[in-house]
Amino acid sequence: MRRMRSVKIVATLGPASDTYDMIRKLSEAGADVFRLNMSHGTQEDIREKHATIRDVERDIGRPIGILADLQGPKLRCGVFAKGAEELVTGENFRFDLDETEGNVNRVCLPHPEIFEALSLGETVLVNDGKIRLRVTDCGDDFAECHIEVGGTISNRKGVNVPDVLLPLAALSDKDRSDLEFACQLGVDWLALSFVQRPEDVLEARELAKGRAALISKIEKPAAVKAFSEILKVTDGVMVARGDLGVELPVQDVPPIQKRLVRTCRKAGKPVIVATQMMESMIESPVPTRAEVSDVATAIYEGADAVMLSAESAAGQFPVEAVTTMNNVAESVEADPTYRDIIEASRTPSRATVADAITLAARDVAETTEIKAICTFSHSGRTAMLAARERPAVPIIALTPLVTTARRMTLVWGLHSVMTSEVSRFKMAVVSAARAARNGGFASDTDKIVVTAGIPFNTPGSTNILRVAPVMEKLIFEGEAE
Ligand code: ATP
Ligand code: MG
Ligand code: MG
Repeated sequence: MRRMRSVKIVATLGPASDTYDMIRKLSEAGADVFRLNMSHGTQEDIREKHATIRDVERDIGRPIGILADLQGPKLRCGVFAKGAEELVTGENFRFDLDETEGNVNRVCLPHPEIFEALSLGETVLVNDGKIRLRVTDCGDDFAECHIEVGGTISNRKGVNVPDVLLPLAALSDKDRSDLEFACQLGVDWLALSFVQRPEDVLEARELAKGRAALISKIEKPAAVKAFSEILKVTDGVMVARGDLGVELPVQDVPPIQKRLVRTCRKAGKPVIVATQMMESMIESPVPTRAEVSDVATAIYEGADAVMLSAESAAGQFPVEAVTTMNNVAESVEADPTYRDIIEASRTPSRATVADAITLAARDVAETTEIKAICTFSHSGRTAMLAARERPAVPIIALTPLVTTARRMTLVWGLHSVMTSEVSRFKMAVVSAARAARNGGFASDTDKIVVTAGIPFNTPGSTNILRVAPVMEKLIFEGEAE
């Protein structure tokens, strides 16, 4: 069941995909990481989904990543009596502080600070900017609006007021509580919404205490400006194009996406391209050509992962959406131009022993007939260095730590494999040979490259490289058939 691609697929779970059967199907179709959005559903819902994913993981026998997405200071409307309403262009709609369920005429917008700041004539956007309203009357606890572009509004849809500057705290009380909850539950990655400054990430890091790695969602102009500083303190990045395209002119998003992906690749930190990748698949079993092209572009650029949001969380065709992404990825990666682009955007090597060994591993693997690069690490650092090189051969990331194996599922090219704790390099090579053969990466007559940090069990970085024939290693251990 090995993946035949290097880019990873993140699938958001929601009402359309919360059963064991569905999560298993999504995983088999290609989802490597599941995203749990803390904006929707209670902590109990999240606990259940988390447990179901772990059940699937156990049954399919391969590590699965879980990413919990904290709501952050995102403005959202309340809920509707019918769950959703159709806003018709030309009609009026009202936002207020009344907590009763909404209808076609009004809904709660539980953020008094918006009403204080809004003025006549300003724009209100809903659902990543799809619905557009203009304020025709407003007061301390309401805004009456004219619907300029209608659409479906549903429970807790995101609201943007691009004309207004709101003071935003990085983590709300809900976020702090959700963060602690998610860490105790044992998620692998935590996504921080609306990061604006490096301090926002550091604040979350203090609370997470290493229990989960941190993804900074770049969706504010301020975050784009401070990106290089944010990148220094985060473990990974999400190009959250939904809000980014609302907060900035939409044509600014592609260049930003390209720049963020390249900068993350250089830093060797995973980057996810997210939002509206296959949006039409919420209601259609096939995507548009433009969507296929969008997913392909992110993959050609060398992004670590592409993501599905509502397509897998609330759409009618979650499995088809994952399957389509998987097919696009396999097709792009089989294209010789893909390798050309990846080579052309190759990141310069850094002057450390670990980087040099990793670069050498890639060189040896690509210039001789080697089937896989096998790395050993506790923290995953060595494996991520290998991924940074974007080699043409698969990378098997061996680790004795399940938390590391799960985190690595998000990273480009890494096939996470659990191994027992090894104390000698010889044992490591045997484990690597076994993993390569059992995973279908190499046959007995093939060779693999193994990198590791010696001595084992002392945190340090990669300093050894070995080319090993698969067969010889297995015979050595009396394991060959
Ligand atoms: P964000 O800004 O964090 O991306 P979002 O509201 O756009 O938040 P997504 O997870 O990106 O949420 O998209 C999933 C869509 O599926 C949501 O807009 C929502 O309408 C719907 N949905 C309903 N229930 C859930 C749920 N439990 N989890 C996730 N999505 C849900
Ligand atoms: Mg968002
Ligand atoms: Mg979204």
